[in-house]
Amino acid sequence: MERTLVLLKPGAVQRGYIGEIITRFEKKGLKLVGAKMMNLNDEILNEHYAHLADKAFFNDLKSFMKSNPVIALCWEGLDAVSVVRRICGTTNSRDAELGTIRGDLGMSGSANLVHASDILDNAKVEIKRFFLPEELFSYEMAFCNFLYSTDEISQ
Ligand code: UDP
Ligand code: MG
Repeated sequence: MERTLVLLKPGAVQRGYIGEIITRFEKKGLKLVGAKMMNLNDEILNEHYAHLADKAFFNDLKSFMKSNPVIALCWEGLDAVSVVRRICGTTNSRDAELGTIRGDLGMSGSANLVHASDILDNAKVEIKRFFLPEELFSYEMAFCNFLYSTDEISQ
């Protein structure tokens, strides 16, 4: 099973979509193994968005991410990284497919409600960036035999 990081960005918190967004991941069958509200600072944002440091929107993006608390979530499941990315939709909410979080709930390419790790290697780094080991939980889902086949459970 993979684990991946999701951030509910300030827009999701302000607009009252925390429950709506968490419900979408839950309904899909992803297991929540970590959750916390936090204020982000320049140190963590410079790391998290290092790949965007040369972009004109970098400072605006950081200011936006600091404007309100965010909710950090860690989700677990088979192929969780790609499944979660597809549930979120493409970066620009106006282009994102209907049925996705961004496509259904957003209008912005910047204030696009959620962050989700893009590949497994980055998910591993990002989970460590936002969670201490003791803030992540391992537990059995009682109904996992109905969610996955025996073969899938062992992956
Ligand atoms: N972003 C932005 N303007 C852009 C592209 C990206 O403000 O033209 C922001 C947006 O909030 C996005 C984040 O930068 O979610 C990270 O960009 P990335 O390309 O990694 O997109 P994502 O992985 O979030 O879809
Ligand atoms: Mg990204």
